[in-house]
Amino acid sequence: MSDIKKKKIIIAVDGFSSCGKSTFAKAIASKLGYIFIDTGAMYRAVTLYALEHGAIRSGIVDEEAVVRLLPEISIAFRFNPERGASDIYVNGDRVEGRIRTIEVSNCVSGVSAIPEVRSKLVALQQEMGGRKGIVMDGRDIGTTVFPQAEIKLFMTADPKVRARRRYDELTAKGERVSLEEIECNVRSRDYADMNRAASPLRRAEDAIELDNSRMTVEEQMEWFLKLYAEVTARI
Ligand code: C5P
Repeated sequence: MSDIKKKKIIIAVDGFSSCGKSTFAKAIASKLGYIFIDTGAMYRAVTLYALEHGAIRSGIVDEEAVVRLLPEISIAFRFNPERGASDIYVNGDRVEGRIRTIEVSNCVSGVSAIPEVRSKLVALQQEMGGRKGIVMDGRDIGTTVFPQAEIKLFMTADPKVRARRRYDELTAKGERVSLEEIECNVRSRDYADMNRAASPLRRAEDAIELDNSRMTVEEQMEWFLKLYAEVTARI
């Protein structure tokens, strides 16, 4: 492992909403001593800012208003030793706890479809990942952000399994939501993410698919470490 660790690469983890991408990507990063970047958190942070600054009203995204807000939005990640993970900040405010509500989830696809939002966040992601030794999770990492990534994974899971995972996560935090509402959100985000004009969600031709509907995180890790050893032995 120590030899393997020396060869730092870029690992792109793409796939559908709520398939455990972040949990898996975070586990890989901590195992390898890599930096983990959750790009979904960045789109969520812009959405939260737009909600709080009147660019989204009654669930309707005013694209021009969002674009006008963009120059004043500055996004950063800072490691939080208490959580053992990075928290996201917008203009110096820690917004980590506020970006995963159902309200943000319901509006984020509308915001992430805006080309100006994508170009701003993609440029920031490329800058953050420039030094290798990173695991980045999102929808377009293997296709647009880092098409040269040495490992590209595309994660999928049954929508019902994904809705149940998200439901358990939100209810554990005390949010009052129904399973039906979550499943509807998961399916409509899949549709919106796959059908938007700017950088739609699709599997890169050279991405390896991982369906984790019936796999534990440990099983996924075992599968991944084999792949990682093979890839890093070749480069
Ligand atoms: O990963 P997560 O579910 O938190 O992402 C929230 C939303 O952000 C997605 O539904 C998608 O619309 C958008 N997103 C994106 N491109 C990425 C990451 C997320 O469009 N690279």
